[in-house]
Amino acid sequence: MSQAILPRDDNCNGWYQLLDTPAPARRLSGTEKTDWLVIGAGFTGLAAARSVAELRPNERVILLEGLRVGQGASGRNTGFVIDLPHKRDLEDNDLARKQKLLSLNQSAVSDLAALVERHNIDCDWSLAGKYQGAVGERGLKYLNHYERLLCDSGYPYKRLDRNELEPILGTRHYVAAIYTANTALMQPAALVRGLSESLPSNVELYENTPVASLTRHNGKWYATTPEGEVQATNLLLGSNIFSQEFGFLKHRMLPVMTFASMTRTLTDQEMTLFSRAPHHFGLTPADHAGTTVRLTPGRQLIVRNQYRFVPRYHDNLAERKRIRQGHRESFDARYPSLSQVPFIATWGGACGLSRNYTAFFGKVGDSAWMSGIHQSVGAARGTISGKLLAELATGQNSSQLADMLAISGKPALNPPEPILSIGVSMRMKQAAWASRSEL
Ligand SMILES: Cc1cc2nc3c(=O)[nH]c(=O)nc-3n(C[C@H](O)[C@H](O)[C@H](O)COP(=O)(O)OP(=O)(O)OC[C@H]3O[C@@H](n4cnc5c(N)ncnc54)[C@H](O)[C@@H]3O)c2cc1C
Repeated sequence: MSQAILPRDDNCNGWYQLLDTPAPARRLSGTEKTDWLVIGAGFTGLAAARSVAELRPNERVILLEGLRVGQGASGRNTGFVIDLPHKRDLEDNDLARKQKLLSLNQSAVSDLAALVERHNIDCDWSLAGKYQGAVGERGLKYLNHYERLLCDSGYPYKRLDRNELEPILGTRHYVAAIYTANTALMQPAALVRGLSESLPSNVELYENTPVASLTRHNGKWYATTPEGEVQATNLLLGSNIFSQEFGFLKHRMLPVMTFASMTRTLTDQEMTLFSRAPHHFGLTPADHAGTTVRLTPGRQLIVRNQYRFVPRYHDNLAERKRIRQGHRESFDARYPSLSQVPFIATWGGACGLSRNYTAFFGKVGDSAWMSGIHQSVGAARGTISGKLLAELATGQNSSQLADMLAISGKPALNPPEPILSIGVSMRMKQAAWASRSEL
């Protein structure tokens, strides 16, 4: 098998930079034999490793992460753990399916809340809810549609106008927003690090230990790493888009990067813009190609927008200056009085979409299971699907597992290159142009 393309995220993740320097990584060396090998320590892999270790307390679980925990996409997102189904799923007429999705996501929010509390994970966890905001006519059209979908699903929400939003968001930029209460906000790098530090004792985590090749023979999985090898009876893949490097769901993923910038801590004077408690919030755009904004409990503002198709999972770092400039313009449009406040970090992260907006959950081979391609909302979906993947692999029966199997599907096959790259990039450019007023 050829050498896999490995994760090599940039070193600019603002969330990660806020954390203390971790103890040196424990790297794998030599040959290890294990009952369970989990690849990838993001939301999915961490939940899968925890769950399988709890279900099989007498078995050995090895979790391999190519980077340090928190440096992958799970540690570099905008920190929303969203209970509501993704917009595409909300548009589905099948009310029972939506209900399953909602209850699975809600379970992820409460599972994570329980872990944060039990293990005292310092990650600014807060059930703060989220605003879905519209800037102009285009955003309003999307927002009105979203409101209809919420009504049809019987989901509670509150609609706010510009005047009501101003003291919360610190800006008159938004014409309207819809608030839903059951989304949690958190510091993602702190959360995943805390989750990795509180794994059951039968899980061994090796970081900076990328799996370069994965083969199966004589009824075992063999994972080769730079300094060692793992021989495993069972394999759980939490490596998301990188799983196709091992031949799983090949040509069915659309690896896409999106980008965020974070300011320094705002001063007391600057914070007067945000006069209404709790003085922190999360806002996602009504038009998905718009801008996400967060004010953290640590008084830092974050903006996230722009997408790039990245078939090799990485962007051109030289482009970051342009991306940061785009963030600056979005920021200044919202907070002109803070235009002197610098960004201290701009970073990107790669996550997985599929052409038919379908996530994958299930068996991918002999003694091998995978969950991934969570359509950019993997904090909740990765967490609950990782947990249930372990249930599936160990032959459990639960109503949640039945629901997860019922809502999962097969990501659509991609057209061949170069049609794929040209098509996806053109579509993203068109969407960015059409949504420029919401950026
Ligand atoms: C800027 C940004 C903002 C986002 N905002 C949100 C948000 O607010 N809420 C939300 O729900 N989602 C958000 N997302 C998406 C979210 O981050 C992903 O959906 C989520 O991280 C997927 O989790 P995962 O565990 O499945 O995969 P990942 O987080 O991608 O984890 C996979 C892990 O596998 C490791 N790996 C890969 N290959 C190998 C290998 N060969 N050997 C060993 N390890 C390997 C990687 O290093 C990585 O750590 C955002 C993403 C970005 C980039």
